[in-house]
Amino acid sequence: MSDTANASSTETPAGGPPGALEAVIGLEIHVQLATRTKMFCGCELSFGEPPNTRTCPVCLGLPGSLPVANARAVHFGLMIGLALGSELAPRSIFHRKNYFYPDLPKGYQISQYDEPLCLGGSLGEVRIHRVHLEEDAAKLIHVGASGRIHGSDASIVDFNRGGTPLAEIVTEPDLRTPEQASEWLRLLRTTLRQLGVSDVNMEEGSLRCDANISLRPAGASELGVKTELKNMNSFRFIERGIRAEIARQEKLILGGGTVVQETLHFDPGSGAITSLRSKEEAHDYRYFPEPDLLPVRIEQAMIDAASADMTELPAARAERLRVEVGLSAESARLLAFRGELGDYFEAALAATADPAAPAQVLANWVTGELVSRLGEGEDPASSRVRPEAISALVGLVAEKHVSVGAGRQVLDRLVADGGDPEAIVAAEGLAAMDGGDELAGIVAAALEANADAATRVREGNPKAVGPIVGYVMRETKGRADGTEVSRLIHEQLGI
Ligand SMILES: [Zn+2]
Repeated sequence: MSDTANASSTETPAGGPPGALEAVIGLEIHVQLATRTKMFCGCELSFGEPPNTRTCPVCLGLPGSLPVANARAVHFGLMIGLALGSELAPRSIFHRKNYFYPDLPKGYQISQYDEPLCLGGSLGEVRIHRVHLEEDAAKLIHVGASGRIHGSDASIVDFNRGGTPLAEIVTEPDLRTPEQASEWLRLLRTTLRQLGVSDVNMEEGSLRCDANISLRPAGASELGVKTELKNMNSFRFIERGIRAEIARQEKLILGGGTVVQETLHFDPGSGAITSLRSKEEAHDYRYFPEPDLLPVRIEQAMIDAASADMTELPAARAERLRVEVGLSAESARLLAFRGELGDYFEAALAATADPAAPAQVLANWVTGELVSRLGEGEDPASSRVRPEAISALVGLVAEKHVSVGAGRQVLDRLVADGGDPEAIVAAEGLAAMDGGDELAGIVAAALEANADAATRVREGNPKAVGPIVGYVMRETKGRADGTEVSRLIHEQLGI
C-alpha cells in the first residue's frame, strides 16, 4: 500500500468526485416479538428469571417433542408486513437451518427460507427485501476462568431465551452512509414500538442488527464484495462499526487489495474489526422443510385482524404533525420518529385550550430546551416536568409575562423539582420587568460599565452589543425582555 493511496482514502467523501468509492449498506434486523409464549412451545418468554426455568421438551429439542407455530407471532409478523407495505404470502413454510452450536439444542434452528411470511415493501426511502419468522437461540455465557471445569475455561448456557419468537427484517442495499443507517434503524424501531410487536430494546437484545457492507465506484450499478458485520446492539455502535468497516475496505481497495467475503465482529471498546469466519468456512445450512410443522396459510380474517391492530405509524404521524398541526418538516420528523417525544408534545399541546404560542414554539421548547436538560434518551414523560407545565410556561413566555431567559430558569426548576411555572415565577421573582425607569437605569449602568463596547456599537458595530446585554441580563437575573433592552440601548446611545 502506498502513502498516496492512504491519503486519498481519508479525503475521498463517499458519493464524491468521479473515481471515488461509495458504500452500499443493507441491514438485517432481528426483532424479538412480544408474545406471551415462545415460537413453537407453550413456555412463557423469560425476563430475567433464574436460568433454565422456562424450558420444555420442545424448546430443549428432546426426541419426540413436536413444535406448534405461535399464532400470535404470525399475527405480529403480519402487522410488521402491513406496516412495511410488504406482500403477505398466502402460504409460507418453515425450514430447518442445520448447524451445530451449544446454544442450539436441536442442532438446527427453525426458520423460514425460500417461502417467507412477507416479501418486498419499504420504509422511508429504503426497500424491504423480506420479513420472516424464526426462533431465537439460547444464551451462551462465557464465564472464563471463574467457572473452570476440569482445568478449562467454561461457558454456560441458559435455555430460557431459546425458542423466543423472532421476526427477521432484511432490507435491500439502499443505504449509503453510517448516519443514514442508524437514522433509518431509529425509524424502524419507532415503527415497531408503535405497533406494539416488540419492546425493541437494543441493550437487552430484543432488537439486534447486522450490516452488509460493500464498496463500489460511485455511480456504478454493480455491487462489490460484501462483508457482514454481526450483532450490533446500539445505534452508536452501528454507526461506528459501519464507518470503521467502510474505512477498512476503502484502504484495502485503494491499496490494490481485494475485499474478501467474511463475517466480522466490531469491538466497540477498541474499535477493532475482527473476522469471525470467512466464506470458505461459511456454514452449509442444509436447509430442508420442517416436517413437523404445517405450512402457514394466511386467510383474509388473519389479515383483517392484523389491520385492526395497526396504529398510526411514525411516517403518517410526521405528515399529520406537519400538515394539520403546522410544524416544520424537521420538527414533525423528530417528534414522530421519537414517539415518546411526540406523545409528550401532543399531551402538552392538548393541555391548553387556546394556546398563546404557535404549536411550533411549543415544539421548539420540548425538542430543544427540555430535551437538552434531560439525560440522553430519557423519556420526558418520566421527568418531573408535566406536559401541562411546559405548555403553561410557553404561554407565559409568549405573553411576555416572563422573558425567554427567565423562562429557561423556570424550566431548570421544573426539571429539578417539578411544580407549577406560575408559582415558580412568583416565588423566585422572575416576572418580566416592564420597560420603566428601573430597566432604563440598569441599561445606563451597563453602557457606563462597558464604555468601549458602547463606543463600538455607536460606530456601527452591532456585534459589540454582547457585553452590554450580558450586563443587563445579569443585573436583572434574566427577567428583562430582550427586545426592550435592545430598544433602550439604541435610545440611550442615540442611534
Ligand atoms: Zn418450551
